[in-house]
Amino acid sequence: MSTQNPVFIPGPTNIPEELRRAVDYPSIDHRSPVFQEMLAPVLAGLKRVFMTKQGETLLFPGTGTGAWEAAVTNTLSPGDKVLAARHGMFSHRWIDLCQRQGLNVQVIEEEWGKGAPTGAFEEALAADRNHEIRAVLVTHNETATGVRSDVSAVRRAIDAAGHPAMLFVDGVSSIASMDFRMDEWGVDIAITGSQKGFMLPAGLSILAISPKAKLAMASAKCPRCYFDFRDMLKLNASGGFPYTPPVSLIRGLDRSICMLETEGLHNVFARHFRIAEGVRQAVSAWGLKLCAKEQKLYSDTVSAIVVPSGFDGTRVVTHAAEKYGVAFGVGLGEVAGKVFRIGHLGSMTDVMALSGIATAEMVMADLGFPIRIGSGVAAAQEYYRTSCGSVQTKA
Ligand code: PLP
Repeated sequence: MSTQNPVFIPGPTNIPEELRRAVDYPSIDHRSPVFQEMLAPVLAGLKRVFMTKQGETLLFPGTGTGAWEAAVTNTLSPGDKVLAARHGMFSHRWIDLCQRQGLNVQVIEEEWGKGAPTGAFEEALAADRNHEIRAVLVTHNETATGVRSDVSAVRRAIDAAGHPAMLFVDGVSSIASMDFRMDEWGVDIAITGSQKGFMLPAGLSILAISPKAKLAMASAKCPRCYFDFRDMLKLNASGGFPYTPPVSLIRGLDRSICMLETEGLHNVFARHFRIAEGVRQAVSAWGLKLCAKEQKLYSDTVSAIVVPSGFDGTRVVTHAAEKYGVAFGVGLGEVAGKVFRIGHLGSMTDVMALSGIATAEMVMADLGFPIRIGSGVAAAQEYYRTSCGSVQTKA
């Protein structure tokens, strides 16, 4: 696999040169004022990215999976009931993690390619007269299927049922790339990792918690130590960390927030929409369909493309890697072999996306797919040419 080519997996994303340089940082004494001065602006900047004024932000060495675990173990007790829908590999894995933590998960099975079922959530919550459900779990952007769920609609469903459950949102492949509003949507815990919208190497679990989630922390009995919010919040208050912090990643995060805010979060979201829309134009010109069932569900960070029957999506990915040195994402779980995924998040421009679309097209032509070479590229070119207003410098 060539490291000269951009990657088109839905995270880790391409790392901008500025961030590569930022994480190349000498050791410092993390108990010194140098670290204290580094941490506070990052935690404050994260609040702006998560769009929370009332929440607190936390960082742990880890990834999105660590953040899932931190969210549930810090706020719940073994046997507690949570409500979740399974509609893709990542919602499935969060459910599995909860079950292994001894939680009682009420699972709503939903077709892969659909979003979180707000109506079924509302029914389940309304039927829960004793308010046993402590939290509702939502995967904002199902990376396996390229499906965006409507988090604000889930909040409305919880409120319509008059239910006090907390709302936990996996924003691993959406936060910092797609519109996400923690306070406005009444989210109690939001999570992500450093290797997606923040365009950094993997290594940080990133969370924001509401005052309600913080209250739940006091009575939660799930065992936790490394991911204990209490230790982290206490030490962070004086600029410290409960153990050795991943200083270079935290420094990178500071620069990443700066890059996102210099571009402007709204422009970041608009860029992701435009790039994704160009990919979607290409998919439609190929005569193929997305795994996402409806337009309102389309993800702006990853497109899962259904291959025609008799073809293998995994072959697209292996052939692209072997012949062209380009990485796409394979289908996972129920959609393994049925889709291949083009990741288009983080450090990405229209021109980079065009190279991914062109590669996918060459691969499909090589493998005998019934597509016309050049058709997807032409459709995306036409879209980018007419929708792009200014020179893009992100890469
Ligand atoms: N949730 C979603 C939506 C993801 O896309 C991923 C990883 O791709 C995860 C959770 C797990 O995160 P990680 O691999 O960083 O542990």
